[in-house]
Amino acid sequence: MEPILTIKNVSKKFGGVVAAKDISFEVMPDRIHGLIGPNGAGKSTLMNIINGLISLDSGSVYLGNKNITRLPAYTRSRMGIGRTFQTPRFLNRSNIEVNLRLGTDLANHRIGYLKSFFGKQDTKFENELESYMENAGFSIDIDNDVSSLTYGQLKFLEIIRSLLAHPKVILVDEPAAGLNDKETEKVVALLNKAAYEYGIGVLLIEHAMDVVMSICKEIVVVNFGEIIARGTPQEVSSNQDVITAYLGRDTND
Ligand code: ADP
Ligand code: MG
Repeated sequence: MEPILTIKNVSKKFGGVVAAKDISFEVMPDRIHGLIGPNGAGKSTLMNIINGLISLDSGSVYLGNKNITRLPAYTRSRMGIGRTFQTPRFLNRSNIEVNLRLGTDLANHRIGYLKSFFGKQDTKFENELESYMENAGFSIDIDNDVSSLTYGQLKFLEIIRSLLAHPKVILVDEPAAGLNDKETEKVVALLNKAAYEYGIGVLLIEHAMDVVMSICKEIVVVNFGEIIARGTPQEVSSNQDVITAYLGRDTND
């Protein structure tokens, strides 16, 4: 199987801070890859480099066999790179439907959106949303304002929004942060569904080790912008460099 994402020798400095140093790894379709490391290790920076929010100093990023290193973020998103953020990004004072269609409009739902203005049902959008919501344990009225949602619901819906655009790969930054156990279970179920049912590559940053260890097939560990270990959950959790990195720094984040 060919990688869906290839990160090749990527380096990035912010002033004197080395956020990424010669980082190389691949993301395969239909599985969940973990990207872990102490606070400030450079995880979010890597996601921003992959989806084009920040430029790299050197190295390259491929989506399938296409070199996307110089493409703007919106083009990468249209090409199939989905993203969620450490802090959910929603338009306040807009209804849930408008927010869920952000990004998806650009991809697949533009016609559907126009139709909905004329009172016709966009059943494809609604069916997909319903199928993703199925196991969520909460129902939403998408005509409501986003301010009616809890933090947990926002985090869950942000993943759904990325999936509604039919991505090839999604970059998910700390989806379980701030969630209780029940909410975390639902997020885990959704990510499993994305990878193992829909065949979407998932790159997951997550501090909850039980989550990472249980759903990732492969884990890349970074510290001070460098990869210090890579392998199965068992391999990285018994790696001495990894243990030292986690014990040697404040990892309360
Ligand atoms: P992580 O997500 O692993 O916690 P980040 O990628 O957010 O780490 O940050 C890596 C390092 O780069 C940190 O030292 C951080 O302060 C720095 N950094 C991240 N983004 C910026 C930025 N836009 N400008 C300056 N420094 C940044
Ligand atoms: Mg981060």
